[in-house]
Amino acid sequence: MPATDARITAVDTYDIRFPTSRALDGSDAMNPDPDYSAAYVVLRTDGGEPEGHGFAFTIGRGNDVQVAAVRALRDHVVGRSVAALCADPGTLYRDLTGDSQLRWLGPEKGVMHMAIGAVVNAVWDLAARRAGKPLWRLLADADPEWLTAQIDFRYLTDALTPDEALDLLRRGRKGAAERTGHLLADGYPAYTTSPGWLGYDDDKLARLAARAVADGFTQIKLKVGADLDDDIRRCRVARATVGPDIRLAADANQRWDVPEAIRWTGALAEFGLYWIEEPTSPDDVLGHAAVRRAVAPVKVATGEHAHNRVLFKQLLQAGAVDIVQIDAARVAGVNENLAILLLAAKFGVPVCPHAGGVGLCELVQHLAMFDYVALSGTTEDRVIEYVDHLHDHFTDPVVIRAGHYTAPTAPGFSAALRPASVARYTYPGGTFWAADAERTEGRTA
Ligand SMILES: [Mg+2]
Repeated sequence: MPATDARITAVDTYDIRFPTSRALDGSDAMNPDPDYSAAYVVLRTDGGEPEGHGFAFTIGRGNDVQVAAVRALRDHVVGRSVAALCADPGTLYRDLTGDSQLRWLGPEKGVMHMAIGAVVNAVWDLAARRAGKPLWRLLADADPEWLTAQIDFRYLTDALTPDEALDLLRRGRKGAAERTGHLLADGYPAYTTSPGWLGYDDDKLARLAARAVADGFTQIKLKVGADLDDDIRRCRVARATVGPDIRLAADANQRWDVPEAIRWTGALAEFGLYWIEEPTSPDDVLGHAAVRRAVAPVKVATGEHAHNRVLFKQLLQAGAVDIVQIDAARVAGVNENLAILLLAAKFGVPVCPHAGGVGLCELVQHLAMFDYVALSGTTEDRVIEYVDHLHDHFTDPVVIRAGHYTAPTAPGFSAALRPASVARYTYPGGTFWAADAERTEGRTA
């Protein structure tokens, strides 16, 4: 990368909300009416440099709080050298998590940590655009020493040392060129959650499940946990529709206590469940371990709400998970997700990323593809979640072909929203929400 004297000139933030609750898209046992939202951040630059885009995902109310948290980081970022930032995003990541006053609001968890994730991911988007590469490729091509230096090993060294990480990354590079060819030709396997939202009736479930199989997916997922009789009926409908060879996963979205999770999962096991996801509190490491022991061979999957690398370390150390579900926008961005991917590789546990929401598919595909090309070296028993809404709002939307994510080739992290979508769905002043408020006032007047 050429050194320039270009700087970050502004950190612009936007409260973007989509009215998804109106069609019950995204409805599950804990989140019956989400309005999928993004606390969206754009790093403005001078000197002809590209912009960097990132976001935290929320589900409606509180997105303004998330935006305020991103704004609280502005002084750390404005004025930084673009070249220096892109040469070493890890320095900013450490500065942000190390801000001693803001750190009190976590530490390293929750709204502030997600805000750091949005900003750090925007820096990686900028770095990848600048390098002219999609992010997965920037990471897969990167020097293992440099990647290792991007990770904060604090609190990890009882499970993963820098030397072990470096060794895993060096070994991961063997055969990377061949795997890049496979990835570009065939893509990365996906599974779909679109048939399984809790608010859909049985006909819609069956129709969407049949379509998923016809579209080439080999795994679907159902939301469960509100009513056991309903879940038994819905799992029966799904299994009858897709046949015996399609993997059927279930997602309880944290609904149960541990004994209830064990009972409920046991009652659904006859439908050949592949995994039970988020059976209980995302913080309950020992609870997940107990569920895992009790429900085997059904696998236990979690991670989309695991707030940082330390919790992933404990889930792995305690033997609490069969499947690690990273989320691109929950932890502090690419740097922390590199640590989590390396932890999973060290423990030999497959990573099946969480996606959906707004733009989570767009982001996390890059991390899974890096994992395949230059770390784990395999896609066996690995799938990225896919949900088929809101992609059209992105300038570089995901492309699914025959049940696989097509590898992105455009430079960046696929994180940029279309300007027209920003103008329409900014809350509350965008054209959609302003008109909506007028309609509501008309009804109540
Ligand atoms: Mg889930």
